Amino acid sequence: MIRIFKSPEVPASIQKSDCNRYDGQDVQDKLVADQHGKCYLCENKPHHNFVIEHLKPKAEGYYPELKYKWENLFLSCQYCNGRKPNSFLILDPTKINVEEIIEQRMEGREMCFSSNVKDKQTNQTIQLLTKLFNGKNGIRDVKCQQLFEDVEYEITLFNEMLDKYKNDPSKNNRQTLIDSLKIDKEYLGFKFWIINDFGFYEDFKDEIIWNKIN
Ligand SMILES: [Zn+2]
Repeated sequence: MIRIFKSPEVPASIQKSDCNRYDGQDVQDKLVADQHGKCYLCENKPHHNFVIEHLKPKAEGYYPELKYKWENLFLSCQYCNGRKPNSFLILDPTKINVEEIIEQRMEGREMCFSSNVKDKQTNQTIQLLTKLFNGKNGIRDVKCQQLFEDVEYEITLFNEMLDKYKNDPSKNNRQTLIDSLKIDKEYLGFKFWIINDFGFYEDFKDEIIWNKIN
C-alpha cells in the first residue's frame, strides 16, 4: 500500500443533487487513471474485476453521508473490498505516505507489516493488510493464496534484479530496476522496503517518491 494522488476535480455524476450511484462510468474512469489501475489496498491490478470502495464505510451506523463523496471513493479489487470490515478505520492514502509509515515485507511465507506509529488507524491498516495477504487467522483461502503467490513471484523477481545490480551496477541493470519501480507497477509498498533493506535507498530515492507529499 502506498500513497495515492486523486485528481481534485469531482466527477460530474456524483455532483448531481439527485445522485444515486457512486460508481458511474466517470468515477470509475477517473479512479482507474488516478490509481493506475491498481487496488489501493493490495496494489494488485484487478483489470476489469474492480469495484469502487469506500475508505470510510458507507453502511448505516458508520458514514452513510460519505457514500457519494469523491474523497471517500477508491478503486479496489473485489477481494479486498469484500474483506475490509466496516468497523475498520484505516489510513487515508491521499493524506499519508503509507509506504513510509508501514513497513511491508515478505518474511518466509508470511507478509509482515509493522510501524513505529501506534495510532488506531495505523494499527487497523496493519491488521487489514495482514488479513488480506496472510488470510484470516493466518489461513489462506484460494483467493488469498492467489494474491500471495502473485506478490511472492514479483518480489522474488525484484530481489533477483537487485542482486544482479549489486554485483554489476551497469546502466542496463539499473534501468531494469527503475522500470520495475514505475508508478503503474504492482506491489510498490513491498519494493520500497526491499530497496531500503538492500541499502539502496540513496541510489533509488528519486524513483520511489511516487505521489509523495512533504
Ligand atoms: Zn486488492
